[in-house]
Amino acid sequence: MDLARVIWLIGAALLFVFLWRVGVGMLRSMTTPLPPPPPEGELRKVNVKFRCSVCGLEIKTMLAPEEDPEPPRHCLEDMDLVAPVE
Ligand SMILES: [Zn+2]
Repeated sequence: MDLARVIWLIGAALLFVFLWRVGVGMLRSMTTPLPPPPPEGELRKVNVKFRCSVCGLEIKTMLAPEEDPEPPRHCLEDMDLVAPVE
């Protein structure tokens, strides 16, 4: 076996280990159950709207764990808070 072939084999083995780890990590993140939602009593009734500045999507938030919920993300951007709905 010449050196080039040995190096190629080591490289292939390292690549395999790397891909294996990435694959297992992805699998794990997909199978990990989401944390259970907080009990109803801990949620605040809110009435705020958020708009995506990129695509214009608007959503209404009705329940949140805090009075002043963090804006959700859409199109990889934080959504803008639209005036609270009365
Ligand atoms: Zn969007």
